Amino acid sequence: MKTIGLIGGMSWESTLTYYRLINEGIKSRRGGLHSARLVLYSVNFHDIERHQLSGNWEAAGQMLADAGCALEAAGARFLVLCTNTMHKVSTAIEEATTIPLLHIADATAKAIHAAGISRVGLLGTRFTMEQPFYRNRLSFPHAAEVIVPNEVDRDSVHRIIYEELCLGRILDSSREEMRRIIADVVDQGAEGVVLGCTEISLLVGADDASVPLFDTTAIHAQAAVETALAHP
Ligand code: GLU
Repeated sequence: MKTIGLIGGMSWESTLTYYRLINEGIKSRRGGLHSARLVLYSVNFHDIERHQLSGNWEAAGQMLADAGCALEAAGARFLVLCTNTMHKVSTAIEEATTIPLLHIADATAKAIHAAGISRVGLLGTRFTMEQPFYRNRLSFPHAAEVIVPNEVDRDSVHRIIYEELCLGRILDSSREEMRRIIADVVDQGAEGVVLGCTEISLLVGADDASVPLFDTTAIHAQAAVETALAHP
């Protein structure tokens, strides 16, 4: 089994989910007392969020590249960056390390393609919903069309992520709001919806939508399990 390097803490609420899902995945594949071989580098999300706000993505990328190097030095064979948004700086991590990075949008794009879906809604932070680094990667190489909520709803999803979910606040009123926004992108033609933020599945699940939901945390964790167990 390969040692997994997790770059987490963005937020730690969803890193907990990664840790649990990866261990459950190894246990279900190997049985008994088997558990994941992994190293976690958990950053201070306050620092990352400050850099996001000021637009200093280079500094944020340097912090995550340093984390990647530390994980490689600690024996990680590949990296898992436990956030969709910070894949904006995934190249900085890849350039600083010599081990592969398992990209969350690639794993999600594969799942969308396997489900035979060609038009998906995307929920996440404003960075993820609005910028090409994620949307383009999601539609590559199978050219899935990506639909995002309108501007008011994008603000709402972004606010729920940073002011509630990343702080461990799970509110019924926000679940209702997220359900409505999901229904809206379905009305616009989405055949499935990507939960493109690693905390959204803390709030909504399959029962909250009339179409399949692509939970990026679960998809990414499962891809990590498969990569860890694959040969060589
Ligand atoms: N965990 C979130 C994501 O998947 C948002 C936090 C962040 O800005 O990294 O995008």
